[in-house]
Amino acid sequence: MFVDIILLKENMDKGESMETKEEISIEDILYQAKKRNQSMNSKLIRKAYEYAKEKHKNQFRKSGEPYIIHPVHVAYILVNLNLDTETICAALLHDVLEDTEATYEDINNIFGTQIAQIVEGVTKLNYLFKTVEEKQAENYKKMFIAMEKDIRIIILKLADRLHNISTLKYLKRDRQIAIAKETIELYAPIAHKLGMYDLKMKLEDGSFKFLYPKEYEDIVNKLEDQINKTKKLLEITKDEIEIQLKRQRIVASVKIETKHIYNIYKKMKQKRIGIEEIKDLFSIKIITNKKQDCYRILGIINTLYNLIPGTFKDYIATPRNNMYEAIHEIILGKKGVILEVQICSYAMNKIAKYGITNYFPYIEKGKIEKKQEVKFKNKLYGIHNSLELKNIIKDPKEFLNTLKSELLDDEVYLFTPKGDIKVLPRGATAIDFAYLIHEQIGKHIVGCRINSIEMPVITKLKNGDIVEILTSNENIQPKEEWLQLVKTAKAKSHILKQLNKEKQKAKKNGKIEILSLDRKNLVLEITDILTKNNINIQSINTNLNENKIKINITVEIQESRDYKKILKQILEINGIIEAKLQE
Ligand code: MN
Repeated sequence: MFVDIILLKENMDKGESMETKEEISIEDILYQAKKRNQSMNSKLIRKAYEYAKEKHKNQFRKSGEPYIIHPVHVAYILVNLNLDTETICAALLHDVLEDTEATYEDINNIFGTQIAQIVEGVTKLNYLFKTVEEKQAENYKKMFIAMEKDIRIIILKLADRLHNISTLKYLKRDRQIAIAKETIELYAPIAHKLGMYDLKMKLEDGSFKFLYPKEYEDIVNKLEDQINKTKKLLEITKDEIEIQLKRQRIVASVKIETKHIYNIYKKMKQKRIGIEEIKDLFSIKIITNKKQDCYRILGIINTLYNLIPGTFKDYIATPRNNMYEAIHEIILGKKGVILEVQICSYAMNKIAKYGITNYFPYIEKGKIEKKQEVKFKNKLYGIHNSLELKNIIKDPKEFLNTLKSELLDDEVYLFTPKGDIKVLPRGATAIDFAYLIHEQIGKHIVGCRINSIEMPVITKLKNGDIVEILTSNENIQPKEEWLQLVKTAKAKSHILKQLNKEKQKAKKNGKIEILSLDRKNLVLEITDILTKNNINIQSINTNLNENKIKINITVEIQESRDYKKILKQILEINGIIEAKLQE
């Protein structure tokens, strides 16, 4: 996900990451609520605010501000995510059960069961999160059980965390690190799974700043340099695109954006490159009304600029797992400036930014495509399903590891024994790893050690595994089944090549000898059976003697074929007296 270049600049000038608006009042919340959804219950929201304010009246945040500032901020984040009356009320009340004498019954009586349950859910999570480290796995488990109960609890929890991240500076260093780390490892991946990129990005950048302050500073400075260097060319490119769009009468908004800080950091680290080598550091985002227009715009871009080969990705035709849709490609813009072009519709853009929150039924009823809603529900069900499976694993440590690796994107991060990071798609095996390092290593792999333990080469690698490949001096014979097990195209193509070579070598010919009564179409029927069984015919000889015919067919012998079965089929043909294979 990308940050608007103007917005980023403003934030950098303030020396802040993306924080919420400084001073927010209940009036701001009510204004946004009504603006977004006429049917929001302002009265109830105000009542929740007054109740929470009264309950928290003698409490203060670490920043010295009155405590009520915190729930108000959380509610404001949520109102901007289009959440409903119940969630906004619950956000305002989310800390009263834990920090004041208010009870579940009180909330239930005044605000109803739905709100009371959300508040209770969040409170339970809060409580869990305060317990000691080793119980962490158990906490995560509970978190997901809560998610299954009512997804709004988790979304509220994410908003709560976002506000807490933005006030981290008031905490002690060790707390800062612990919270920031947990946010990047757990909360941001959850936001990602829910398709809430906007929130994910804010959680990551906000935490990264505290986790690695030096690196953060460094990237912000370098990014500013890059912006200053390329801004003019980017703007000229943008203007050119806008002019062409107008000529073709396509209505679209065109924006220049940059990758967000944490993503820049990750890319630089993974690929071991400098910021100036990141090809999609800047992007021009073109948002239009209709899906069809996306492809028309793509046509315009491709006539205007040169595409960098291999960078075209059509996520409209094949959306990503969390439903992200757009067309991406990297082009050479004005005067060779390299930038990514992203094309999508307004609807796609909304889903990209806000994910699941687009799918609450109360948002602009009827405007959501039924198909998409179903798709998303299936996706969510998929998450639950896999988590439920994990519940079976009784060992909480194992659960945590599995969960974390499930949450971390669709890639696994691995290490060579020397400590170099390698990235492979999820499900990749040690064979993929070998080929990733070098073709020759792949060709000679005989075994592997994963975290110092000898394992089969087809073992699926997990996040953080240290992988050592054992090789032999001779070329090894890959197994046919490897083709189904490896994940990377590189490994697949090499294995296929080797297998084919072996097959070529193994080819030998045999002879099928048939004795039959002669009749019309006899040979045709025989060859038909052979071709249906994928037998390669090298030559056919016939020898007629009185009314009997001898047919000799030279064929290529393949080990995997069941020749007995084939001969049996031939024997069933009318008139055949005898059929045998001479190898
Ligand atoms: Mn809170």
